[in-house]
Amino acid sequence: MPLTVLDHPLAHDLLSRLRDVRTDPSEFRALTRRLGWLLITEATRDLATETVSIDTPMEPMETQRISERLVAIPVLRAGLGLLDAVTDLYPDTVVGYVGMERDEVTLQPRDYYAKLPPMDGRRALVVDPMLATGGSGSAAISHVKANAHPTSITFVCVVAAPEGVAQIERDHPEVPIIAGALDRQLNEQGFILPGLGDFGDRLHGTF
Ligand code: URA
Repeated sequence: MPLTVLDHPLAHDLLSRLRDVRTDPSEFRALTRRLGWLLITEATRDLATETVSIDTPMEPMETQRISERLVAIPVLRAGLGLLDAVTDLYPDTVVGYVGMERDEVTLQPRDYYAKLPPMDGRRALVVDPMLATGGSGSAAISHVKANAHPTSITFVCVVAAPEGVAQIERDHPEVPIIAGALDRQLNEQGFILPGLGDFGDRLHGTF
């Protein structure tokens, strides 16, 4: 499945401000929400629609309304930053949560919390802002697949690293990835370069 990277002046501008070390948490949250609108719009470009008949003040006409519903699954805790963008655009979205952490012994990601609603007939958007190694993103998608039945799954992130994209493509080749940017590489600690630092800390003000 292809990786789609946003290519729009507004996306570049918002991402530049998010990356800037001088951006404080309140601005960071607002910028994330605005960039989220662009990411979610792209992620739902092919949402199903149905034809309905309406009357304008001038005459009857046939128009399109969205017929496919969403479930948003933010990966805790950074994924919470993108949740408002989904519900702003699609207010009847239902929400599930997956919390991922690294197991100290195996060093593999594992879910420490999960609360998923029924997803039958809905498209799942797994939102996790930093696709770094891909370990937690892939594990979150696996958790959704194992415990629910959405019609499809799309992964949405703010910044992706090549390593993370490769991991998702390997584990879940049918899952499209929507990203604000594809960055250069990971450092030894698993942070994305040039990246924007620790997304969760910058969003929640926990430095
Ligand atoms: N998670 C982050 O918050 N930032 C990174 O650069 C990588 C993972």
